[in-house]
Amino acid sequence: MMNNPSTPAIQFDKVSRYFGEVKAVDHVDLEIIDGEFFSMLGPSGSGKTTCLRMIAGFDRPTSGKIHLYGQDVSSLPPYERDVNTVFQDYALFPHMNVEANIAYGLMVKNVARQERTKHVDEMLELVRLSGFAGRKPSQLSGGQRQRVALARALINHPKVLLLDEPLGALDLKLRQQMQIELKAIQKRVGITFIFVTHDQEEAITMSDRIAVFNQGKIEQIGSPSDIYERPASSFVAGFVGTSNLVGGEIAKRTTGSEQTFSIRPEKIHIGSVSDNPASGMISLDGVIRDVVYLGLFTRYLIEIEDGVDLVVVEQNLKSTSMDVLSAKGQKVKLSWHQDHISRVGG
Ligand code: ATP
Repeated sequence: MMNNPSTPAIQFDKVSRYFGEVKAVDHVDLEIIDGEFFSMLGPSGSGKTTCLRMIAGFDRPTSGKIHLYGQDVSSLPPYERDVNTVFQDYALFPHMNVEANIAYGLMVKNVARQERTKHVDEMLELVRLSGFAGRKPSQLSGGQRQRVALARALINHPKVLLLDEPLGALDLKLRQQMQIELKAIQKRVGITFIFVTHDQEEAITMSDRIAVFNQGKIEQIGSPSDIYERPASSFVAGFVGTSNLVGGEIAKRTTGSEQTFSIRPEKIHIGSVSDNPASGMISLDGVIRDVVYLGLFTRYLIEIEDGVDLVVVEQNLKSTSMDVLSAKGQKVKLSWHQDHISRVGG
């Protein structure tokens, strides 16, 4: 079946899923575009997995409708949906070798042996495991097992691939390597990937767009830079990266409105008290209360008023740990461009 390019891969129409009193997913509207790498990001219990399970068909909405390429699948069983899932625990068959694990989906469909071998070879190449066909899962590293799970899910060429925290079990370095690889594989195969994670850096690294979940609702949907540069709420500003929230009297004094705004630590410039900020810049005096030298950059805690601190990070372009640590107690002028603030409410 040809897809109409304007038909979304996935569409949620006021989807809710309640477990008794718990509103796991609460009136969610959502459109995922064909071919995009889409992440569902949020803290534990925010409803991401429940959304994914409803797309897969392992769970059903209490109310609302889910469309897959324009077809209402709300009441279709999992095997009648053209989606596949990769789980965090891989769920490989331990007694089968890599080749048999990857070929499983084609075996079930009675695809002839020769054809199967050809597709398995293609998949092994895609996930850079050529030469590992005869190994058992127990003879592979975590990252290699993850790639087998991916190959096994992709061999059926599903229209949508669902990934539930698939990198969660890997150590940080391998995880970062797999993030880049996964994104490259998605680009190559062109399949819509829906990726569930609670790791904001992971979502930002890989996604075309991100939905930020909080308590069963989506707080914001946008590109990684939208979410990071223009958080729509204080929850998003706080959950994605570090952010300073400024409200009340200080907000009024600097921006003319009491409405709370967020400003990212790396957007703030630390200057000397005698500086005259250029037009378009917002400035505040402060005192450096704490300095943490982190090699690549330094993190400063700067008090702008009794009990109100801003976090500022600066790259250590020229400074050394000695320079930055001696800054403690200094009076400074902070400034940032007015375009770099985001209004986040209240
Ligand atoms: P995590 O990152 O921890 O997996 P999540 O964002 O994926 O979290 P969900 O697993 O979707 O969150 O859970 C959302 C809410 O629904 C939680 O409060 C959870 O306890 C509840 N929940 C999920 N499944 C069930 C179930 N089968 N029965 C009762 N409550 C459930």
